[in-house]
Amino acid sequence: MNEGFNIIKPHHFLDFLYDLGIGYRHEDEANIFGNRNGELCQEFIDGKMKRIKFTPLADDICKPCKKLSGGEVCTDCFDDETAFFYGFQHKVDFNYQLDMKLNKALPKIFCFDKIRAMCDVLCELDKVLTKEIIDLYKWQRPERAEKTFEGIKKGKTIYSDH
Ligand code: SF4
Repeated sequence: MNEGFNIIKPHHFLDFLYDLGIGYRHEDEANIFGNRNGELCQEFIDGKMKRIKFTPLADDICKPCKKLSGGEVCTDCFDDETAFFYGFQHKVDFNYQLDMKLNKALPKIFCFDKIRAMCDVLCELDKVLTKEIIDLYKWQRPERAEKTFEGIKKGKTIYSDH
C-alpha cells in the first residue's frame, strides 16, 4: 500500500471520471479476477482519493488482479472483434500505448511518477481536457466525453474542500 496516495493509469482515471459522471459505483459488478477497480472508484467518488500518481504500468487497480503475471504484466487478451478494431490482442500493449498518448496529450497532468493533489488534477483537467483527447481512448460510446466532463465538475465539488 502506498503512503497517502494511489497509483493509477491515466485511462483508468478517465474511467473513474466517467463513472462519477453517470453515478456508477460498481456495486453490481462481478469481479472474478479480483482487481480493485470498483473499490478504488468508490474511494474516488467518496472523496477519499486525495492524492494520485499516474503510471503507464501496473497500477493499484491491477496489483491484486489474477490476470497480472509476476506483479507486472497483464495477461488479459481482447476478444477477436475488439482486437481487430484496435489492432492489438493483448490488453497490456493496448493500454500502454493509450496511456502514453494521454501522457503526451496532457504531459503536465498525466505526468508519470509525480504525486499530485486530486483537487489540482481535477481543476487542470476541467480547463484543458477535450473530447478529442478522451476519444484517444477509442471507446465506441457517444456519451463518453459528455459524461466525463460531468464527472470532472462533480469531482471538483467533492474535492474542493480537501
Ligand atoms: S488491466 Fe489487466 S491486470 Fe489490470 S485490472 Fe485489467 S485485467 Fe487486471
